Amino acid sequence: MDIKIYPDPVLFEDCEEVSVINDDFIAKVNEMIETMRNADGIGLAAPQIGILGRFFVCLDFSTEERVDSLVLINPVITEKKGRVESKEGCLSIPGFYEYVYRYEEIEVKALDLKGKEIVYCPTGLQSVVFQHEYDHLDGILFPERMNSITKDIFMKKINKEFK
Ligand SMILES: [Zn+2]
Repeated sequence: MDIKIYPDPVLFEDCEEVSVINDDFIAKVNEMIETMRNADGIGLAAPQIGILGRFFVCLDFSTEERVDSLVLINPVITEKKGRVESKEGCLSIPGFYEYVYRYEEIEVKALDLKGKEIVYCPTGLQSVVFQHEYDHLDGILFPERMNSITKDIFMKKINKEFK
């Protein structure tokens, strides 16, 4: 799978809820996980591979080896609290890293690949990754979470790099 690079317009679209979890969908998700891992990423959202569906994959940080991946389908953030600064990058804006603001703790409800609802209460890096990937489903890239001065400088840099 090719990862869409900024400023590809697909990265700014709103995604639609996933209505069917079938074999085709599961195959696509598995391919996404492989694409994420091959790119040394920690998360990848559907629009980043050109699919306008509300789902993303990311590493499972609950184990140290990070051998497992998580798939969140139709995620909804139901609680958010606290604020942290997190230095982030994005596979769609390769090579650029910057500090953004995130909630410290969130509660997220999402379906897994079996269509079962799971409630996650991530903290730390897992929480930040969930928020970063979730934003992609609303067409929001991480510069939107920077303070305005940092964002201006960052946007100038990436607009020069990616045309
Ligand atoms: Zn990203």
